[in-house]
Amino acid sequence: MKSKTVNLINCSTCRDQQYVVSNQKGKVHAEACKCFACESCQGTGRILEEDSDGISRIRECQCADFSKKLKLFNQAGIPGKFVHEGLDNYEANRHRTQKDALTRSRTFIKEFNQMKGHYSQGLIFMGDPGLGKTHLAVSIIKELILKHGVECKFVDFFELLRDIRHGYGEDISEGEFINPYVGVKVLVIDELAKGRNTDWELTVLDHFISTRYNDDDKVTLVTTNFKDKLEVGQEDNKKSALSNARYTLEEKIGPRIFSRLMEMCKKVHLQGKDFRQV
Ligand SMILES: [Zn+2]
Ligand SMILES: [Zn+2]
Repeated sequence: MKSKTVNLINCSTCRDQQYVVSNQKGKVHAEACKCFACESCQGTGRILEEDSDGISRIRECQCADFSKKLKLFNQAGIPGKFVHEGLDNYEANRHRTQKDALTRSRTFIKEFNQMKGHYSQGLIFMGDPGLGKTHLAVSIIKELILKHGVECKFVDFFELLRDIRHGYGEDISEGEFINPYVGVKVLVIDELAKGRNTDWELTVLDHFISTRYNDDDKVTLVTTNFKDKLEVGQEDNKKSALSNARYTLEEKIGPRIFSRLMEMCKKVHLQGKDFRQV
């Protein structure tokens, strides 16, 4: 084995990441650490250079890229409670499906970057609450933004619908709410199919999914407490069961949206129930 050199940490505030994250008004926020000072451009973001013909040109400094990443991060709308969540601190030891989900999240990031984000399928995390589905989806977009500068957003669909409903009264159009999400490169739709799913709600969702489906360039990550199939035995007690297991995802969102989602995203099933029963 090669011997590893131990890297000394110079800045204890950011552990040399050069940015610090915090929860501001319920959203995750990042800003440059006080240790971040660019010597190449003295903080201007631009470098004046002479090419071989002696002509001066201005090019963007590397730190401009860093500032852009922080800006994208702050526009992503990641809920504040996920401020310190990342793939490295996801606890995958409760069930083997969690380990699998973690591996697939890492693979997704790798493949996304290899394909430069074109034609990549997203992921749909399915399973009971409390297994860290949102943790994984959030961690993926955090990494895509901060390491790779990809434009990503997070939306809690249930909250968005509530905002739209509220917005109607304030004369804000549905489009103004929806367009930033529909057009973003990578979108996390959290808690899909939560709530009653009225005809109106499903129309909004259909618009969301269809628009992204028709654009090869968009990648969608989804979390849902609903599954694609009912577990053995649940089919019979469909009416009596009280959990989400009463309905399949397809029953909640309809066959058209469901089939598109299945084309857009690879399924990642998470379980944990068996472990809790032991
Ligand atoms: Zn620092
Ligand atoms: Zn610079």
